[in-house]
Amino acid sequence: PYILGIETSCDDTGAAILNRDGNILSESVHSQHSQHLRYGGIIPPIAGELHRQNIENVVSEAFRKANLTPNDIDAIAVTNRPGLVMSLRIGVRYAKYLARKYNKPLIPVHHMEAHALTARMNNQIPFPFLCLLASGGHCILTLVKGVQDFYMLGETMDDAPGEAFDKIARRLKLRYLPEYEWMNGGQAIECASSKATNPNQFEFTLPLSQYKDCQFSFSGIKDNTRRIIERLERDNKLSPDEIIPDHENFCAGLLQTVTKHIARRTQRAIQFCEDNDYITDETGRRLVFSGGVACNDFIYNTLKELCDKLDYEIFRPMKQHCTDNGIMIAWNGMERWLENEETYRNINLDDVTVDPQAKLGTNLIEN
Ligand code: ATP
Ligand code: FE
Repeated sequence: PYILGIETSCDDTGAAILNRDGNILSESVHSQHSQHLRYGGIIPPIAGELHRQNIENVVSEAFRKANLTPNDIDAIAVTNRPGLVMSLRIGVRYAKYLARKYNKPLIPVHHMEAHALTARMNNQIPFPFLCLLASGGHCILTLVKGVQDFYMLGETMDDAPGEAFDKIARRLKLRYLPEYEWMNGGQAIECASSKATNPNQFEFTLPLSQYKDCQFSFSGIKDNTRRIIERLERDNKLSPDEIIPDHENFCAGLLQTVTKHIARRTQRAIQFCEDNDYITDETGRRLVFSGGVACNDFIYNTLKELCDKLDYEIFRPMKQHCTDNGIMIAWNGMERWLENEETYRNINLDDVTVDPQAKLGTNLIEN
C-alpha cells in the first residue's frame, strides 16, 4: 500500500508518501519558522492562514515528487490531535476534501503517537518499549505496548522542554549573533553550550529533585534563568541588544540541568516498568527517544550512558524525523492501516474532528 501523510498541527505544513516498508517515496514541507521569527513566536491565526495558503502546494508537490496521483494511494493519514486548533483544521479539512474527491479512507493520527512510532520506520523495535517524547509542546514518558496501546507514566506539569529552550534562547537574544540567527532555540542553546569553557559557572536548581515519580517541570528553570539574565544585564549595564557575558557557559549549565532532570525521570520510569514487570528479560529492554528535543546530542548521549548502564537499547529517529514532518504521519497511518484496514475503510468522515487537547493513551500511574 501507499499512504499519504499530512501534518499541520503547529507551524510546519508537511506531506509525505510512504510504502509498506517505510520507504519514503516523497516528502514536501513548508516551514513557517522564518515568518514567525518576526513576531517572536507563533501567532495561531497567522499559522492557520499560512497553512491554508500552502497546503495545496505542499500536497501536490508530494504527489509530483513520488510520480503518483491521488488515485494511486490507498489511504490518507492526517494529524487531527493535539495541536493548535486553527492549524489542525486546515490539514483535516484538506485531507477530507481529498478523501471525498478520490474516495479514499481517512486515518486520523495522534501527533505524539506519530512522534513515538517514527522510530520503528527504520529500526526493528518490537513492542513493548519505553518511550520518552520531548518536544515543543510535550514531555512524556510512556510505555508503548502496541500501535494504539500507549500507557502514560508521566508528563510535564507545566512547560515543555523545547518551549523552555525557545523562550530562554529568545530572552538571551542568541538570535542577535549571526551563527544562531536561523536556528531554533534548542539548536542555538546546544550549539552555544558546545563552546562553553566552564559549564559550572552558573547554578540552576534541579526541578522536582525531592519527588520520585515520573513527572516533569520546566517552568522553574525558565524563571530561574530569567532572573539570572536580568541580574547580569543590570550589573553589566547592558544595552537592549547586548548579550550577557559568558552566555556559552550559561547555556551549558542550563542544558546540563535540563538533561539531568530528564535523565532522572527516565531512570525512574525504567525502575517503575521493571518493578511492575512491564519490562522484563522476555520483553527485552528498549528506550525510544523522539520529538524535536531528541535532536539534542548532549541529551541523547546522556540517556545513552544511562541505557548502557541499565542494559537498555536506545533508539532515536533520524534528526530530520524527530521534529515535525509529514513522514511520521504517513508512517503512523501505515502502521494503523496494516493492523486495522477494515476500520479505516468504514470510517465516517463526519466523525473525524480536531481535538486540540487530546491526551495520549491511558494513565498507568495516578499522580
Ligand atoms: P509537539 O510535538 O509537542 O506538538 P512541536 O511539534 O511544536 O511540539 P517538535 O517539532 O516536535 O515540536 O519540536 C520542536 C522543538 O524541538 C522546539 O521547541 C525546539 O526548540 C526543539 N529542538 C529542536 N532541535 C533541538 C536541539 N538540538 N536541542 C534541543 N531542542 C531542540
Ligand atoms: Fe511535534
